[in-house]
Amino acid sequence: MTPEQILKQYFGYDAFREGQADIISQILSGRDVLGIMPTGAGKSICYQVPAMLLNGLTIVISPLISLMHDQVRALLENGIPAAYLNSALDEDTYRQTLAAVFNGRIRILYAAPERLETESFLHIAQEVPIAMVTVDEAHCVSQWGQDFRPSYMKIMEFLQRLPNRPILSAFTATATKDVADDIVRILGLQEPYVITTGFDRKNLYFAVEEPRDKFQALVRIIREHEGEAGIVYCLTRKTVEDVTEHLQENGIQASRYHAGLSDEERARNQEDFLYDRIQVIVATNAFGMGIDKSNVGFVVHYNMPKNIENYYQEAGRAGRDGSNADCILLYAPGDVRLNQFMIERSNDNDQLDETMRIRLREKDQERLKQMTFYCTRHECLRHYILRYFGEKTQNYCGNCSACKTNYEKKDISVEALKIASCIYRLQQRNLQFGAKGITDILRGSKAEKYAKFNLSDTLSTFGIMQDVTERQCRQMIDFLVTEDWIGQGGEFKTLTLNRKSVQLLKERPVITMNVVKEEKPVTLRRDKSLSPDVDAGLYARLKEERSQISKKEGVPAYIIFTDSSLQDMARKVPTTEMAFLSISGVGRVKLEKYGTRFLRVIQTYLKEQGSGGH
Ligand code: ADP
Ligand code: ZN
Repeated sequence: MTPEQILKQYFGYDAFREGQADIISQILSGRDVLGIMPTGAGKSICYQVPAMLLNGLTIVISPLISLMHDQVRALLENGIPAAYLNSALDEDTYRQTLAAVFNGRIRILYAAPERLETESFLHIAQEVPIAMVTVDEAHCVSQWGQDFRPSYMKIMEFLQRLPNRPILSAFTATATKDVADDIVRILGLQEPYVITTGFDRKNLYFAVEEPRDKFQALVRIIREHEGEAGIVYCLTRKTVEDVTEHLQENGIQASRYHAGLSDEERARNQEDFLYDRIQVIVATNAFGMGIDKSNVGFVVHYNMPKNIENYYQEAGRAGRDGSNADCILLYAPGDVRLNQFMIERSNDNDQLDETMRIRLREKDQERLKQMTFYCTRHECLRHYILRYFGEKTQNYCGNCSACKTNYEKKDISVEALKIASCIYRLQQRNLQFGAKGITDILRGSKAEKYAKFNLSDTLSTFGIMQDVTERQCRQMIDFLVTEDWIGQGGEFKTLTLNRKSVQLLKERPVITMNVVKEEKPVTLRRDKSLSPDVDAGLYARLKEERSQISKKEGVPAYIIFTDSSLQDMARKVPTTEMAFLSISGVGRVKLEKYGTRFLRVIQTYLKEQGSGGH
């Protein structure tokens, strides 16, 4: 069979996406591969299709054991013999799985990196011909990456202990060069075919909002997405707890997910989400790696994450089946400070020496700065992200909040000068304040804590920005700090002058800032209506059928058929098995398993329509 035939017969897809065909043909020719593709681009197909054609077993090393279950289930649903080995299996099942592998009954075996060391596994691995080892989330081997996992270092040793070296393929969504170099070096990829596909996810709408009340904004967003599954990411466990509780009080079906919960609760909440028993999961970044729930309609970041890599990976969990979806970041300047704090406190790499740790921290700070610019610069968000990943694109996409709302460039040269001189005059008196203090002084606050310095009579910059609202003044200061026109540091984040501020005071350059024209929340979202050729009534019936099967068989709905498959059915309205096979996502096994049921729903629907809707 050809790769195209495998794709059609087992996965039900007509054509490969960008990069997939190349990667597969390189693997089949025996070459190592490093595939760098964004979340949702379709990395799994790149190793699952060749696994069906290679002579021998494919072992897939994947970091999160809790998710292997669903990955394997999805393969089995497609008629592909797959299994997994991790510490969650009981003795019996573990032994049975090893036996099935030994007897050649398994083509794709998922394993946690920790498994690679166990004697029973090594024994099997030495006996059974292994055609390929695939390392998923391969950036976990790199200390430069954002999720270094020491257990990934065991992969090398494992490979060395095999009698024959298999083809090695590695996949990641992290595109920085340091990380890619590390993956090649540490895993020992031999003259690999390295491919970076386009990072654009056209079906995702990106938005940044800076609401006065984040919680209210969140509730509004969730209500706008009624009937759709959503993920809400928070920076801390505490925020996860608070937000979940508040949402529940507001009558929204939400559960929490973070590393501080018991394994049982985590597994239960995750499952409730996968099976659409709750609408929203509120989580720290512990949630999601390897989650392939394809019908997530929106991802909200309640806090700004610490870098663009994390952001794009987390946001990218929306709309994986290709349907339109929203990615909304709720920004507040406090998020920057919280992230800085977390970077300073982070101590997870205790094997590292001090210089290395300092270098990593500097890198983290730099990444954070780039993330902050994403939220504050208000340029086309898609353009910003793609440029960060090294892609050249137009600076207008028309499908993000910056492109959709009208921002106006405002000349803030005079205000910048006033702010900097105020800091300068105070510094001359050995006084230092944070953004709030400087704002108060510029706006002529009469508060007790400033009165004692007698500023109103003696400081020329006292009250010279009375015409500006506090919020605007704070925004300008935040902008000047992120653009480095003003320094900020120390425990109390006091504002100081730096080299660029001196330039500002002396040369008085023109400084412009993008401000939202009117201060109303961005309510623009992606276009939610179904495409006009989809029969909405039929689509609803098909969803109903899927949900019944899901409940009865205990399989998540998206594993049975994705939303885009059901939409394709409601577009093409197939009435024969042949026609049903032409639906995207319907392979042989799914036709056999579900064809009759869905065809019957379609027949019934057509009959009702024909008889005038009775
Ligand atoms: P990644 O691992 O890159 O984040 P996945 O492998 O989970 O992405 O794929 C995302 C979704 O896209 C899945 O639902 C998958 O079935 C689907 N998909 C992958 N390749 C194709 C293709 N060639 N045609 C249609 N859908 C595809
Ligand atoms: Zn845009």
